[in-house]
Amino acid sequence: MPGPFEVRSKTNNILPCAAQTKMTNHVLFEPENVLIKPEDLIRLNYEFMRIICEGGECMKAISPSVLSKHLQKRHNIKKEETAKFIDSIAPMMLWRKMQTIPEDGLKPQRGIRVVDGFRCRHCLDFRSRSAEDIEKHWTKEQHGAPAGSLVVHVRLQSWGVQSFGERPVYWIVVEEGAKSEEDKDLLLGASEAMTSAEDWEFV
Ligand SMILES: [Zn+2]
Ligand SMILES: [Zn+2]
Repeated sequence: MPGPFEVRSKTNNILPCAAQTKMTNHVLFEPENVLIKPEDLIRLNYEFMRIICEGGECMKAISPSVLSKHLQKRHNIKKEETAKFIDSIAPMMLWRKMQTIPEDGLKPQRGIRVVDGFRCRHCLDFRSRSAEDIEKHWTKEQHGAPAGSLVVHVRLQSWGVQSFGERPVYWIVVEEGAKSEEDKDLLLGASEAMTSAEDWEFV
C-alpha cells in the first residue's frame, strides 16, 4: 500500500525516489541476507559461554546485550524472528561478557576468525597483529639488543571487541597440520605438554 507521500506518474507507477533506490540497492547487494535464519548465523560455544556470529564478515563473539540489535541491523533479520530466536536461547542470554579466553596452543575455536599476528620473542603474553606494536613494546620494556627477530609469527583468535576503542584480547591457536611440534614450542614460548584438542567440546 503506497504511503501518502509517494510521487506517482500518470500511469500510476511509483516513481523511484532516493530513499527507495537506496533501499533496493541495500537488499540487492546483500543477497546473503535473503531468507537467512538466526540459527544459520549463530553458534553457541558452551565451553567459554560465548554466542558467536558466523555470518558474513562477523566471525566473532556477540555480547548478549547487543545480539538482538546485531541480528536485525547487521543481518536484516525481522524483529519477530529475532525475538523468537532469542527466546529459544534464553539460558545463553545470561552468559555475560567475560574475559575468559582459551589457553594458547589449542585448535581454533569454531566460528571465530583466525588472523595473522605476532608475539614478543621475549614475553609470552605480549601479542599483536602488528609487528610495529611489538617493536614499540620491546623498546618500552627495555628488552635490550635482540639476538635476532623481535617477533614470532603466530596465528591468533580473539572474541572480538564490542565497543569502539576496546583492545582485543588474543590467544594463540595452532591450526591442524600447520606446524610441527617443534614449531609449536617456539610459537608458545614453552615446551609444556599441550592439552589434547579432543578435550574441547563444541555443540
Ligand atoms: Zn553477525
Ligand atoms: Zn616483550
